[in-house]
Amino acid sequence: MDLLIKGGHLLSGDRADVLVDGGEIIAVGAFPATDAAEVIDADGLVVAPGLVDGHRHVWQAPLRGIGADMTLPDYLVTVLGRALPAYSPHDAHLATLLGAAEALDAGITTIFDWSNATRTPEHTDAVLDAYATAGVRAVVAHGNPDDERDVRRLAGLRGRVTGALAILGTEYGPWDDAVRQIELARELGLVASMHAGGGPASPLRRMDEAGLLGPHLQLVHLNALTGEDAKLLVDRGVGVIVTPVVEATMGHGASSFSRFADAGGRAGLGTDVVVNAPPDLFEPMRDTLRSHRAHNGTTHPAGAILAAATIDSANAAGVGDIVGTVTPGKRADLILLGGLTHLLDTGDLAGAVVTTLGPADVHTVLVDGRVVKRDGRLVGLDLAGLRRSTVELARRAHEPVTQAVRAR
Ligand SMILES: [Zn+2]
Repeated sequence: MDLLIKGGHLLSGDRADVLVDGGEIIAVGAFPATDAAEVIDADGLVVAPGLVDGHRHVWQAPLRGIGADMTLPDYLVTVLGRALPAYSPHDAHLATLLGAAEALDAGITTIFDWSNATRTPEHTDAVLDAYATAGVRAVVAHGNPDDERDVRRLAGLRGRVTGALAILGTEYGPWDDAVRQIELARELGLVASMHAGGGPASPLRRMDEAGLLGPHLQLVHLNALTGEDAKLLVDRGVGVIVTPVVEATMGHGASSFSRFADAGGRAGLGTDVVVNAPPDLFEPMRDTLRSHRAHNGTTHPAGAILAAATIDSANAAGVGDIVGTVTPGKRADLILLGGLTHLLDTGDLAGAVVTTLGPADVHTVLVDGRVVKRDGRLVGLDLAGLRRSTVELARRAHEPVTQAVRAR
């Protein structure tokens, strides 16, 4: 066996070793250290599934914090309209590396990358190259879904980096385009992800009549989701991702997490953008806990929210059968968390993770059984160096944004 993670505590509170071989979780139980080539001492640490970011525009990593007061129209005009076209393939490569490094540092082992940056096949090459280096698991949702040849190339990917479609959808783009693109996703066995508001005037019923709803479709935000539409989405198995921090900061409206849950659905969580939100999933988890308790009462268990940032996000990203839980047969995407040594034998570990931990508590991270963060430091990725190397890009991409904001 390749690897044994020894002496850690699972979220259930049970002490257990995790045996890994060929990047896969082989068994969870008690094993002698001699069973594996490498042993990671997890004594005093919590062993949890890696976090799964269900919606992130990774290319924006160098633009962190530029839009504290941005509204959605500001964002569309400046970040998508002006900053994005300034990205060369080399920029997309560096930005994706930085975003992946920030994600891994925060314990995010899978990213559903809503990659507006894949504007040309050369940009797609650059993004895929970045993920080959970064070591994070990525579902790269192609941002130019009418480039069918390039989309088909993503559909052929197997392993740690796979493909999806990022489409404008039925609220932000022409109906016929959305139909064609959703049908292409279904044909290729990919997830098509689109932003959506929902609400009484939403096209969800029409989409249902056209046979477009199903597990191959993922809807993001849905802040105006109605109870009836929530039921429809649950019945059709449509994936839902909420990004509550950005939604509240930019005024999209209340998170649809609880309304979707009322209908029996399980929404996943995303970070979305870092122009005005942090690059980790701890804050979206806490935000969701607070709004869900306001909706359901304060006895709702905090630890239950952890599923939203792991297996529920994984399901909506189309990778729930391979990651999202610490289960034999799944890929070894795992995080070891510190800060809770005093609670290990007696406490509600999942609840403590959701309510009190942050990126600084992410001690060790594995993706596909490979250590990508060890003892609090990234392995093979220089986060500070990547930040420095994207400063010029950030200034160049940011300049038209500041000009536009000043001109208002
Ligand atoms: Zn988005």
